[in-house]
Amino acid sequence: MNTSSSASGHAVAVSNPYGHSLPSYLQSDQLGPWGVYLQQVDRVIPYLGHLARWAETLKRPKRALIVDVPIEMDNGTIAHFEGYRVQHNTSRGPGKGGVRFHQDVTLSEVMALSAWMSVKNAAVNVPYGGAKGGIRVDPKTLSRGELERMTRRYTSEIGIIIGPTKDIPAPDVNTNEQIMAWMMDTYSMNEGATATGVVTGKPVDLGGSLGRREATGRGVYTVGVEAAKHIGMDVSQARVAVQGFGNVGGIAAKLFAQAGARVVAVQDHGGSVYREAGLDVPALLAHVAKQGSVAGFAQAEVIAHAAFWEVDCDILIPAALEQQINAGNAHRIKARMVIEGANGPTTPEADDILQSRNILVLPDVIANAGGVTVSYFEWVQDFSSFFWSEDEINARLVRIMQEAFAGVWAVAQEKKVSLRTATFIVACTRILRARELRGLYP
Ligand code: GLU
Repeated sequence: MNTSSSASGHAVAVSNPYGHSLPSYLQSDQLGPWGVYLQQVDRVIPYLGHLARWAETLKRPKRALIVDVPIEMDNGTIAHFEGYRVQHNTSRGPGKGGVRFHQDVTLSEVMALSAWMSVKNAAVNVPYGGAKGGIRVDPKTLSRGELERMTRRYTSEIGIIIGPTKDIPAPDVNTNEQIMAWMMDTYSMNEGATATGVVTGKPVDLGGSLGRREATGRGVYTVGVEAAKHIGMDVSQARVAVQGFGNVGGIAAKLFAQAGARVVAVQDHGGSVYREAGLDVPALLAHVAKQGSVAGFAQAEVIAHAAFWEVDCDILIPAALEQQINAGNAHRIKARMVIEGANGPTTPEADDILQSRNILVLPDVIANAGGVTVSYFEWVQDFSSFFWSEDEINARLVRIMQEAFAGVWAVAQEKKVSLRTATFIVACTRILRARELRGLYP
């Protein structure tokens, strides 16, 4: 019998009584993001009622594609990169989720990210399943031409499974509007027809949506404000610390600062900066746009990497990569609330530590869902070739985020579970209800 680790750390049987045990790449290895995801699923199964019968489906990606991406480098050599596209679940609609370019990307990571997309899309009730893609590459080492060739070849290779009604990629870590434009063009050229709806997060001049670039950060801010009301926190007086100062962390910091909050600490791949009176966020954004990181920002103190987690603050926003908050630093965090801008930034062990210390965690699968929500608006606009105003987009985004958060909050209160488990209860119930209604075919 195959085992995985339960919430309490004890081994539990994976419910697969009929056939084979889970293949090794599907098992919880305790270390990687896929193992974290499996532990999160185990925590929700007791709350699924009769739908638990279908729960195994959550533990297996529907489809995973590994592709070789060969390109000619500027110096005439041939380089090969490994690319992935994983469709975790398509019960509620086509696959949907970003593509990341990072030197540490692995199949296991992309599997976990695709599963979190299934949960996230169901949590905010957009009509999608979950998918994710990536290339194992440090894009900073490529020229613009190499980056374009790699993006196009990758798109062509995964072209056999993506499409406007099949699976719709979007930006994620180290990918942006230009990369989405190349993906859209490559797919359209191969199809012989313009297909704007094959990716979201495109430039506004190419079927992109107003408000998409800011949407994830705006969603982070929106759920933060809602949660603050529940715990009696005044956002205009709050001190905020942010890890990751890109599309998510940078925008969230800007919105919190606009609301009067003091952004006291920011950490990114280049270093950590601190200012008790509050950093000048627009100046820091301008610095990062020019220099590529917060390092060297003059109007702040430099602090050590580890010291960032001990900063005295009210709101901590991890908005970079996975497993940043773990058993090693969760005891030292001083914030009252953690808002997960990143995907998978908190390990299950750290989740328990934070909960026991009464620190409220707004989980990724709801907190960073603003991006995919506006991706959905973009896809709808592309289909109808009718584009909405930015005010309309932001108003709809805020409404969806507020309603989804209120629903999850109510479940957490009623069942006395964490917001993460509550979000998984709401989302996995929706996914498995669709699974059951569709039935097995053939
Ligand atoms: N990459 C983003 C996420 O992790 C957005 C995905 C999308 O818009 O499809 O949610």
